[in-house]
Parts: sequence; C-alpha cells; structure tokens
Amino acid sequence: MKNLIEKMFGTKHERDVKKMQPLVAEINDHFERLKSLSDEELQAKTDEFKSRLAEGETVDDIMTEAFAVVKETCRRHLGQTWDVVNQPTEWNMVPFDVQLIGAVALHQGKIAEMATGEGKTLVATMPTYLNALTGKGVHIVTVNDYLARRDLEWMGKIYEFLGLTIGVIQNQMTNEERREKYKCDITFGTANEFGFDYLRDNMAQKAEDRVHRNRYYAIIDEVDSILIDEARTPLIISGQVDSKVHDRYRQMKPTVDVLVRKQTTLVNDMVAKAEKLLASGNADDEFEAGTLLLAVTRGAPKNKRLLKVLKETGMKKLVTDVESAYMRDKKLHEVDDRLYFFIDEREHSIALTDQGTAQLSPEEQKLFEIPDISIMLSELEGDESLSPEERQKKTDEIYRVHGELSEKVHAINQLLRAWALYEKDVEYVLQDGKVMIVDEFTGRILPGRRYSDGLHQAIEAKEGVTIEAESQTLATITLQNYFRMYDKLAGMTGTAETEAGEFWDIYKLDVAVIPTNELCIRVDSEDQIYRTRPEKYKAIINEITEKYNKGQPILVGTVSVDVSETLSRMLKRSGIPHNVLNAKQHQREAEIVTRAGEQGAVMIATNMAGRGTDIRLGDGVVERGGLHIIGTERHEARRIDRQLRGRSGRQGDPGSSIFYLSLEDDLMRLFGGDRLGSVMDRLGVQDDEVITHKMVTKAIERAQKKVELQNFAIRKHTLDYDDVMNVQRNWIYERRLAALERESIKDEVVDLIEEVLEGLIDDHCPEKVYPENWNLTGFTDELRKIYLLNFQFKEEDIPSLTREKLKEQVHGAVMHIYNQKEAAYGEEIMRQLERYAVLSTIDRHWRDHLAEMDELRTGIGLRAYHGGMGKPIDIYKREAFRMLEEMSATVDREIVNLVYKLQVSLPEKSRAERRREPEAVASHADTTGMGYASAVQAPAGAAQEKNPMAEASQAGRQQRTYRRKVPKVGRNDPCPCGSGKKYKKCHGAAG
Ligand code: ADP
Ligand code: MG
Repeated sequence: MKNLIEKMFGTKHERDVKKMQPLVAEINDHFERLKSLSDEELQAKTDEFKSRLAEGETVDDIMTEAFAVVKETCRRHLGQTWDVVNQPTEWNMVPFDVQLIGAVALHQGKIAEMATGEGKTLVATMPTYLNALTGKGVHIVTVNDYLARRDLEWMGKIYEFLGLTIGVIQNQMTNEERREKYKCDITFGTANEFGFDYLRDNMAQKAEDRVHRNRYYAIIDEVDSILIDEARTPLIISGQVDSKVHDRYRQMKPTVDVLVRKQTTLVNDMVAKAEKLLASGNADDEFEAGTLLLAVTRGAPKNKRLLKVLKETGMKKLVTDVESAYMRDKKLHEVDDRLYFFIDEREHSIALTDQGTAQLSPEEQKLFEIPDISIMLSELEGDESLSPEERQKKTDEIYRVHGELSEKVHAINQLLRAWALYEKDVEYVLQDGKVMIVDEFTGRILPGRRYSDGLHQAIEAKEGVTIEAESQTLATITLQNYFRMYDKLAGMTGTAETEAGEFWDIYKLDVAVIPTNELCIRVDSEDQIYRTRPEKYKAIINEITEKYNKGQPILVGTVSVDVSETLSRMLKRSGIPHNVLNAKQHQREAEIVTRAGEQGAVMIATNMAGRGTDIRLGDGVVERGGLHIIGTERHEARRIDRQLRGRSGRQGDPGSSIFYLSLEDDLMRLFGGDRLGSVMDRLGVQDDEVITHKMVTKAIERAQKKVELQNFAIRKHTLDYDDVMNVQRNWIYERRLAALERESIKDEVVDLIEEVLEGLIDDHCPEKVYPENWNLTGFTDELRKIYLLNFQFKEEDIPSLTREKLKEQVHGAVMHIYNQKEAAYGEEIMRQLERYAVLSTIDRHWRDHLAEMDELRTGIGLRAYHGGMGKPIDIYKREAFRMLEEMSATVDREIVNLVYKLQVSLPEKSRAERRREPEAVASHADTTGMGYASAVQAPAGAAQEKNPMAEASQAGRQQRTYRRKVPKVGRNDPCPCGSGKKYKKCHGAAG
C-alpha cells in the first residue's frame, strides 16, 4: 500500500523537495540579474537587506534574494586562491540547485541530509549570511576545532566580501578572545566550546567576564554526531573535592577480589562439567550442560574457556534454547542462583546473588538490607502524631541513611563491574600508574578522561594504582538542553534519516533528504560473514592485497584502535604500505585522508578519523573502480556504517563498499549471534567458509535497530532527568544573572531583609499564639546571628506586643544597621558587597544542590520503587522541587546574613583577579561508551573562587533551614517545579 502511494506521489522527501523547486527558480532569477552589478553594488546589498529588515521585512521575505547574492559572490571568486588551514586553496564552487534546496531547508530550521561530498560547507553559507543580517549572531557548530578553523578560513572570504564579521572559537582561547569572537556576525566553534562557554558564563563573577551574546540561530554540521552520539552524556564543569569515596573503594576491594576469584573457579568447573556431560550424549545431560553454560555466560561472559566451547557447532543454539526454556518458565533466577554474582551484558547491569552476599562480612551484608524508602516515607506521611517539622526531620534522616547505604552498595557494584566487564588493554590501559580510557568508538586513548559514577575509582582500586579524588560538579547541562535554547536550530549530515524520530522527538527538527547533485553509482556489496575473527581478518587482508595490486585505493574502517593495529600488523607482514588514523590529530589526519583516493593508497581509519574531509580520486583511479571501502565490523548504529560507505562515491564518482563480519564480533555476540550460529550450523558452514545471505544481513540490521532504540532510551533517560534540573538551572541562572548585570541590587536585598524577618516572626511568634508564649529568646538569638542585632524586650511590654508592632520595631532596627553600614562603606562598596553576597551564596548552594540531586538520582535509580510513590522520575521531580524550596529559603537568609556580616578589607579588584586561577575542569563524557566522564583541562576563566570571605560565612550553613512556602519567582515565570505551567497558575496560585 505504502509503496503504491509512493509510486504515485513520491516519498515525503521527494514531495518536500518538489515544493522547494519554485524557490530555486526564484533564487536563480535573482542570481541572473545580479551579474550586471559592480562589486560595490553587490556588496551594498548587505546594507540594503539590513535596512529592509529594520523596516519590517522578515528574513523569509528576503531569503531568495539573499541566497542569490551569496551565489553571485561565489561566482565572482571562482579561480581565486587563498589559504585554508595553511594550504593554498582555489575557490571553485558556485552552489548547485540541490545545494540551494539544502540551504532553504537549513533556513527553515530543518536537518538537511546530504551525502558526503555534496558540499554542505558551502550550503551553510546561504542561510548563515541571511540570518546573520539580523545582527543577532549565527553559530556554526563543527565536530572539532580543526574543522571550525577550516570552515572559517574556507568560507570566510565570501562573508567578508559581503561585509560580515567572522570569528572562530578555539579550545585554548582566553575569555577576552572568546568575547570578541562571539561579537562577530558569524561564530564558528565546536559544540563543547559553545556549551562550556554558556556554563562558564553562568559561573562568572563579573558581568564583563561573560562571553556569549545570545543564542539565536545555530547550524550544526555532522549534526548526528553532535546531537545523537555526543548528546549521550552531559557537559560538566567540575572541581575537586575532598571525599572519602576512594577509601570506600579501597576497603571493598579485597571482598570483591575474593568474590571474583571464587566465581572464576566456579565457572571454570561449570565449563568442565558441561563438557563432560555433553560427551555422554544423553538428552537430560545435554539440558544440564546447557544450563551450566548459560550460567557461565551470565557469570563471566568473557571467560576464555566458555568462548572456546561456544565456538563448537551447535553450542550457541543449545545455550539459547536452554535460556528460552528458563525464560518461558520465568526461572532464569535459578540459573543465576548457581553463581555468586551475575551480569546482564545487554542491560549493562550486575547483581549479587544470595550466595554471593553470603560471602560478605556481616557488616557488609547489612548494607544490602537497604530499607524500602518508599514504604518508610508513606508510613511517615500517614503518621498523624508528628508535627510537620518532625516529619521533615525524619524524612531528611531517612534520605541521609538511605543515601549512605546506597553509596556503599554502589561501590561494590562498580567494583564488580570493573572486574567483570572492563578488561585491561581493551576498555582501558595503564599508563604511568594511571587508568586511561580507550575510546570504544575511535579506539584512541583519551587522556585525562574518567569514567563517571565511581567506575574509574573502582578500576583504579582493581589495578592497585592511586585512587584519584572524585570531583564535584559545579555546572552541568546536556547538549540537548543547551541546543534547545536557540531560537532556531538547523543541522546537516550525510546520515540523519535513521534517527529522524529522535531528532523530531527531542529537538523538533525535521529531516529533509536532499537528492545528490550527481547520481550515486557506488556499488555496495553484500556482507561477508565468517565464523571467527581470525578468518575474517585473513579474508580482509586478501581483499586488500588484491585491490592494492590493481592500484585501487582502499579505505578500511574499524571500530577501534585495537582492530586498526591488528590489521596494520598483518598488512606490514604482507608488505603493504598503509596509513593508520585514530582521530587523534585532526589536522594531520585530515591532510592524510585527503590523499586516500590516490592510486595505491591504503588507509585504516577509525570512525571519526578525518571526518568532514573531502576525499578526491587521484589520476587513473576512476578506471580502477574508484575508492573501495572495507568495513571490518558492524557498528551499533546503522548510521555509522552508512557514514563509512558514504566516504566513497562522492559527486558521482565510481566506488564500492563491502563489510566483513564474524560471529565473534561484539554486536553479533550480543544480539543474534547465537541464532546466526545455528543457522550456519544448519547450512553446514565450515569454519573457514564465508556466507553471504540476505537473512543474515537482515538479522544484523534488526540487532542494530535494537541497540539504536536502547541507546535512544538511554539518551532520553538522561534528558528526562536533566529536564527537571533545567527548570531549576534556568531559574537560578536568571536570578544570578540579574545580580550580575544590574547596576544595583539594593532593592532586592532590602526586600530580602524584610522577607527573612517575616519568616523569623512566623517561626517564633505564630499568629495564633499569645505573645507570652512566643519564643522570643529564639527570636532574639536569630536576630543576633543574622542581622548582628542585639534586641531586648522589656518584660512588661511583652503582653501588649503584636506581630505587626514587633515587625515594625525590629525592621526599623535592622534597617538602621544596614543604613549605617552603607554610610560607612559608601554606596559603591556596599553595592559590590551585596552583589558578592548574592553570587557567592547562590553559587555555593547551587553546587551543593547539584551534588544532592546527583545523590537523589542515584538513590532512586538503585532501588525499585513500588506502589504509592509513583515512577522514579516523578519522585525525583517532587524531591528535587522540595530541595530547591529548601535551598532557596536558606539562600535568602544567608544572603542577608552576609550583607550584615561581611567586612570589606580587600579592594574588590584584587579579589576578582585572584579568582582567575583555573581550578575547574570542563568535561564532556565520551560519546559512545556507557557512562564515561571526561576531564579535559578547561581554559582559564573556568575558575571557581576559593574566597576566604565566602568560607567565613560557612558557619551560617549549619543552622536550621527556613522554608518559605515557595521560592521567590515572578508570577508569570514558569513554575520551578517543572510542571510547565506559569508560576501563578501552579505553586504560586493564591491559597
Ligand atoms: P560535505 O561536507 O558535504 O561532505 P564538503 O563541504 O566538504 O562536503 O565539500 C566537498 C567538496 O565538494 C568540496 O571540496 C568541493 O570540491 C566540492 N563541491 C561542493 N560544492 C561544489 C560546487 N557547487 N561546485 C563544485 N564543487 C563543489
Ligand atoms: Mg562536511
């Protein structure tokens, strides 16, 4: 049915493209007319457009004219040469019609899917020019610093000719340089730089330190890499904190060590037993043997003996059959019960069995009796005998104890995971006593990066190297929430369609598939599937040798450095010269990759190596069939495989691609390898035989789809939680920004002085209580602590006191102190002091709040919640809001306290100077690993102050929390509880 409709009306994409045809004609009409203009007249178009925009025309109105101006500018530059990343480069591009269509899609805020080599860099110039005319700044986002610079230098001449300013952000730049670049009409840079600058701006101590101007329109190149792969983990700026965490890992290490060793002995026995049983040929024995092997698969999936047995004909099928039988009867736990702990590789989870727990010391066993917090909480809620304060205190206590226990259990789990799932020299390497992560995506070593969530500490404990301190998050945001802040977003890539659903769901980005300029004639062959890896590698080397001897260039794509190196060694032995690229040095590798299309070139490259670089065919290569692509393994995502193929066959070039797979590949092993194994058994395929079979390729694709969905779920999950924080982050950052940017925040401070006082009166002198019974001692204590005010009541006055009178008197007194202080210091210093009080208090509490939110999330994630408390995310929302309320009240009180308490001895300037030492690190966890955290050194300006004055105020934190009913928030602002409603309609509603 669908096919028939498509035949009659074309696919949705074809229809969309058709709709754009008249626009293309219009652009080309304008373009023809522009030819007669002088250069000056053409350049004057920019000012003309700007004034038309000022007079009320929109960017949509002038789109076709503006695009034509860019096209004509391109034409006038034909044959000119300028340096692009130190290479003299001749300009040879005038946008093709399909490129105009791509440009329209970008302007409309869509993702333009255009194949590799279609000239997306050029496409972006048109919407960039058009939208930059507004003066609001356009951001062009690239995957690395090198490409940011390349694109600026390559396209820069066009923009400059038209009178626009351009700038590029590079990692090592100072704040001053960055600010200059952001002022330009067009700013190039990586997603990480843009995102970290946003976070650092919200940590700035002075308004002048902020670098971003606004977030109006961004075009993201290689949009899938950034919004899908990199979006898996948030951007984090962190600073080191002292903590007892590493002790915990050291303490637990021996225990886990014993568990792992016992398990190893156990599973080795199981394999031996299974082998014996199998030899008997008895059917019952066979089932038991399958059960044993299944247990080993769950207890030690990477066990060498197991892998050997599974290779034998029929074994995989046996294990899957047995597994299905247990699952059908819902008795899989019986298999797990034979172990000390079991691992679910698919779920990336790990758990102790009763037998395993029994190995722990009695104290450790207690850890696992984590009380069910939801039951305890609902009991509390039902307990009428408690006052609200008591209930709150008990709730806090439950969370605290629960948090502590959870952390210890968490440590054990992470240690087990470190032992069972993370192998030295595969997932990580040891260098100079440090655990370094190997990127599973590109295979390169990631210096300075750390696994998050204690996993890195766990591996350090396992390897017996120094366990490095955990750092505290100072600011964090997901890329999703960062990019959603732009008024308009667009993206381009060769491969978006498979993730179109996610782009729409998360970013409301539509994917427009743009046809290629020339028909793509690349030949994509069927997969070649072998049983074992060595067989597969042998076949790959044979294929390379054959093509190499013909002089045809070959690009071999790998999923890891490991594989790259294996192949490189084999090629060396065969005497075939080649290059290996690991996405380590972007510029150098880009230079090498440009030559990948030359006769006799052999390149082995991991996924991201040389991405974005154009591969042209050398002389005589067309006759030899163009660039030949060899994939050595399937990636988790089909998209990445498509990218690899896409490196060949650009702009109508001839080319070919083929994938070599084996049943031992990770993806095959995890999903469907067993089934495939049995298919191969049935077909009677021998070890060294290859099969190519539609059914197998289909099965692999199904497996990939499954992983894609799973990964989407992981990203969505991260985002769901960040969404809760996002509302809070915006709220805090806005309040902070106001303090930073407004000349004077005296009004706010004076309001706070009064509000905090009202709170004290509410707490100590409740309305319905006689003045004789008010807690005036407590009240005066607080006045002393907060306002440094010594207030005495005369006994005889007390009975006639009213709350109003009390407030009036005390308020007069505290304002008197305030005014005196202001008179003594002078207006200017007092304003600075107030600003400092607000910023430092907000920052410190926000930091702690982030940590608490983290704990809350871990706590919720660790336990299954049943019944009345709702879904984990809902509990998180509720608790997060409660914590925000609490924080907000404490913050108010502390700000007031600081305003009264701070003594000024340092000139503000020198203090600001001292703040600049870079102590914080900006990190963006790795793109594809599960739960990486990285720690790349941040440029100066990310510094977090360590201020003696701030520390002096610590004392105030120990005091009890005062709760205002809801945080201070504008009536028309979104409610900080995250409901999405306006504040006045939600928590701010009267009554
Ligand atoms: P993509 O990013 O889409 O993979 P690039 O922007 O790197 O492609 O461009 C690849 C190459 O395509 C350029 O180096 C250029 O040689 C060529 N190209 C792109 N557009 C045109 C054009 N309109 N006319 C001629 N060549 C073009
Ligand atoms: Mg590109």
